[in-house]
Amino acid sequence: MALPSSCTVLVVGSGNAGFSAAVAARQGAQDVILIDQCPESWAGGNSYFTAGAYRTVHGGKSDLLPLVNNVDEQTAEEIDIDPYTEADFYNDLSRMCGGRSDPELARILVQDSTQAIQWLASNGIRFQLSSIARPTKSTVAFDSGGPGWDCAKVRGTPYNTGDVLNLAIRDAGAATAGNWSGCHSVAWDANAPSHAGDQEITNEFTKSGYPLGLMLNTAGKRFVDEGVDLRNFTYAKFGRAILGQPDRMAFQVWDSRMIPWLRDEEYREERVERITAPSITELASKLVPLGLRDPEEFIRTLDEYNTAVTAFQRENPAAKWDPAIKDGLSTQSSRVKLALPKTNWATPLDQGPFSQCGLLAA
Ligand SMILES: Cc1cc2nc3c(=O)[nH]c(=O)nc-3n(C[C@H](O)[C@H](O)[C@H](O)COP(=O)(O)OP(=O)(O)OC[C@H]3O[C@@H](n4cnc5c(N)ncnc54)[C@H](O)[C@@H]3O)c2cc1C
Repeated sequence: MALPSSCTVLVVGSGNAGFSAAVAARQGAQDVILIDQCPESWAGGNSYFTAGAYRTVHGGKSDLLPLVNNVDEQTAEEIDIDPYTEADFYNDLSRMCGGRSDPELARILVQDSTQAIQWLASNGIRFQLSSIARPTKSTVAFDSGGPGWDCAKVRGTPYNTGDVLNLAIRDAGAATAGNWSGCHSVAWDANAPSHAGDQEITNEFTKSGYPLGLMLNTAGKRFVDEGVDLRNFTYAKFGRAILGQPDRMAFQVWDSRMIPWLRDEEYREERVERITAPSITELASKLVPLGLRDPEEFIRTLDEYNTAVTAFQRENPAAKWDPAIKDGLSTQSSRVKLALPKTNWATPLDQGPFSQCGLLAA
């Protein structure tokens, strides 16, 4: 398409940021042009691939229900949503960023969050309450120049090539700032394509059901506390932990009690290769051709975990599993403690059939 020789506002990039900027500009200026380096079929950038989850300050049900389209009257009566205040948002942000967020950017993110949602809704964006109808009530991996990231899978568009960042740093004297070696990186299906997202499957390759089970590396060892916090506060960090494992890969394991709680949009049979076996020993053998190097250690890790969970449950018979809160069901009792605890949602993995899926960081 031939571009006009001039315009009042030129927007570069056709993702959320670009389209929001273009719409906002169009509400003032007449001639707004949006360009992108991708072919038309890839318009939308990473925004096309997202789960579209938004975090916003709100005062509870009365603020949120007018914005969403998936809550009928009866459900509205049944659910309760605590307010999420500016202080809550600041605290979560600070905790996740180790206190290193830029104060001015944090202020804009937090204080403008409600207004941004309302503006998007007024421009036709439809929102849904993300916990409705899910049993768990409850990016591209950025090439940051560090070792190993070239092995992470790309979750979205292959056209976020970083050219403008490179130009800014190399030619315009921009300085790098913030956590430059870090990135948002998740557990991603090992069978997903490596160098670009899949435009049909999009975010369904995400595999964030680990709080319901365990993650073991190919040496048969656990490497993170799967229950250290609610999934929303850990999923973007654990991709990096997987990338740091031998073979840059891990297995997620659940027993038959937890399998029904896995999110359909991440684990439905049509999308994921699930390996199922009636016992842990048989599961370990089935995983060897998929990359498990030490099946004995895999079995030992699960045995030790089960022993620790059982000891905790004996000591705390009133403790109840609850995936919606940090329920305190752990592997740490006065009698048995794991070197690497599972701090919440630690239930025994002892009822077959057992299931797993392979993971990579992305
Ligand atoms: C699978 C997945 C799930 C995600 N889930 C969530 C989520 O639930 N919630 C959330 O908040 N975030 C999520 N994210 C992150 C979110 O996608 C991004 O933060 C957001 O989309 C960024 O929007 P953007 O407009 O800045 O960039 P993008 O949407 O990536 O758009 C950038 C556009 O710029 C174009 N471009 C790049 N370089 C050039 C150039 N030199 N010249 C011209 N055009 C160029 C690209 O082709 C692209 O179309 C997810 C990301 C992925 C990949």
